Amino acid sequence: MNFLEKKICDEGIVLSPSVLKVDSFLNHQIDPELMLQIGTEFADRFKNEGITKIVTIESSGIAPAVFAGLKLSVPIVFARKKKSLTLTDGLLTSSVYSFTKQEQNEISVAKKFIQPGDRVLIIDDFLAHGEAALGLAELVDQAHATIAGFGIVIEKSFQVGRQKLEDQGYRVESIARIKEMDTKGITFILSEVM
Ligand code: 5GP
Repeated sequence: MNFLEKKICDEGIVLSPSVLKVDSFLNHQIDPELMLQIGTEFADRFKNEGITKIVTIESSGIAPAVFAGLKLSVPIVFARKKKSLTLTDGLLTSSVYSFTKQEQNEISVAKKFIQPGDRVLIIDDFLAHGEAALGLAELVDQAHATIAGFGIVIEKSFQVGRQKLEDQGYRVESIARIKEMDTKGITFILSEVM
């Protein structure tokens, strides 16, 4: 088991066969040591990709993205889920359906923060149906930047997200890949990272 799989087994709560609660280290309280390890792992996997920017989505993507950005020495831009008074003109927007919240969200970033020459690593906390990931990809496409790949903290491999991203030719790197889960336990697709 790698460091994240172990943490998920120790602290994750399986709410249903499709929803995992990890609010003790990722979605509410944040474990900075673990985020540093995750960020370092993303940076290592994408170090030869010429990344110039990391794009993520508020709020739970930000912590792992910041550490990856620190290690790759690139800035992080996070898409906002709600319109902000200070985020007014020059916006890129796309629409994302959230299965956990069962609502459609308009996500946005300021155009000036993603430039046509950028080579972007997209990071998110979970990959389920791929909606958030594809919404972020659309923002990067609108900016005429290129996508080097996706760094996912926890992938639920029994849902269609990875397939959707791979069908579009994207590289997907997930630190923990859940094969299946229920209240009795969680099984992972074997990983090379310890
Ligand atoms: P997707 O857009 O791939 O369907 O879902 C990804 C987004 O939904 C993530 O950004 C995450 O916030 C949320 N999400 C999806 N599945 C889970 C889950 O099992 N647990 C938690 N905590 N969040 C999830």
